[in-house]
This record gives sequence, C-alpha cells and structure tokens, in this order.
Amino acid sequence: METQTGILTVVSGFSGSGKGTLMKRLLEKYPDNYALSISATTRDPRPGEVDGREYFFRTAEEFKQMIAEDELLEYACYVNNYYGTPKAYVQEQLRCGKDVILEIEMQGALKIKEKYPDTVLMFVTPPSFEELERRLVGRGTETAEVVRERLCRAGEECAGVEAYDYLIINDELETCVEQVHSILLNEHTRILRNETFINKMKTELAKYAKGEQS
Ligand code: ADP
Ligand code: 5GP
Repeated sequence: METQTGILTVVSGFSGSGKGTLMKRLLEKYPDNYALSISATTRDPRPGEVDGREYFFRTAEEFKQMIAEDELLEYACYVNNYYGTPKAYVQEQLRCGKDVILEIEMQGALKIKEKYPDTVLMFVTPPSFEELERRLVGRGTETAEVVRERLCRAGEECAGVEAYDYLIINDELETCVEQVHSILLNEHTRILRNETFINKMKTELAKYAKGEQS
C-alpha cells in the first residue's frame, strides 16, 4: 500500500498550558510518527533554550528577510515578538509520511487552516484558570508583567477556540499524550485522507465487474 502523507497538525493553547511539555513527551514516546516544526522567533532565548533546538532565534532584521524570501508558512506577532514557521522542513517531513506538529498561536493556526483545510487543530488548556496561573508563574521564565500580558492574551484566545477541532485538557500528562496520539491515529483512518487507497479499490472492483480480472 502506498505511504500516506503525514497530517499537518496545529497545537495551540494558553501560554503555560503545557503544550511544550506535552509535545516533547509525545515525540519521546512516538519518534517515528511525529516531527515537531522548529519556529523562528525574535524573542530572547530563555535559560536552557538552544538556537536550532527550541527555536531559531533571529533578529527582527533577519526575520523580515525570511518573510521577504517567502521562507515562512505563516508568521504572527505575539506579545511584542514575531514568530514564524519555516516552510522547508514541514514540507519535507509531510512527504516522508510523518505527522508534523506546529506548536503555534491562534492567528498562525487560522492562517494555516485557511491555506491547508485538512489541518487538524488542537487546543490545549489546563484543567482550570487557577492551574494555568500556577503553571505560568511556576515555570519562572517570565516577569510578573509578561505573565500578566500572557494571561490577558489567553482571555482573547479563548474567544477563538471554536475554530479548533479538538479540546485537549492537559491534566495528567501521560493520559493527555495518549489522547493526542489516538486522535491522530484516528485521523489517518478518515475517508478523505485515504483517497489513493479508495481509488485503487474502485478501479480494481470495476475491472472485476467487467470481467477483466479473475
Ligand atoms: P507552554 O508550552 O504551553 O507555554 P510549558 O510546557 O512550558 O507550557 O508548561 C508550563 C509549566 O507547566 C511548566 O513548568 C511545566 O513543567 C508544567 N506542566 C506542563 N504540563 C503539566 C501537567 N500535565 N501537570 C502539571 N504541570 C505541567
Ligand atoms: P513562547 O514565547 O512561550 O515560546 O511562545 C509564545 C507563543 O508563540 C506560543 O503560543 C507559541 O505556540 C507561539 N508560537 C511559537 N512558534 C510560532 C510560530 O512559528 N508561529 C506562530 N504563529 N506562533 C508561534
């Protein structure tokens, strides 16, 4: 059977909801199924973040250049910084049959869905507002002012959540990883993603009906 191309998947969610942690674990458990796109950003690296691993850290000038050269699938401004998805890696991994995950915010997610309507959109949230605040503050990577800005942004993002296909409540991490994995396995069985297989069966059945095949 021909290899199916991978599914383009967008994972968004409130800052601090645990998207990064969830995706890291999903890739550790199922490295053959998934590829995580690495974005370019103009924000500064957090302690421990490495250029080319968490993000491609770029100056505003370099980021503009990437836009001008049409190297990005989408880009958006999020709390005073630019973030964008480099095209080449995503296209290459999809061709190899891997499901490619874009961990991006809502404006970018909607642009991707418009361009590629088969994209699966997932929205990650913690089980409550209190837990969101606790995780965001507990991560200890942002100033109090940036935490406040990110929580305000979370309020705005809530308004757009209906555009997403799946709500992922990240309470117990391992359960959540399995939920995301099973959603994507199920997505592969959708009729619309299996046109090549269906068409081959149709052709062979038609030949049989005409007596062209024993
Ligand atoms: P995001 O990528 O959505 O901004 P992170 O992955 O950085 O969020 O997670 C924010 C904080 O919440 C981190 O300190 C992380 O360890 C913690 N966290 C993530 N998932 C869970 C979970 N299921 N239960 C408890 N804490 C979690
Ligand atoms: P952070 O600064 O916490 O790493 O990311 C801030 C927000 O930017 C998160 O919601 C994250 O998903 C989003 N983001 C990361 N990369 C991209 C990208 O390439 N495009 C868009 N549109 N958003 C991104």
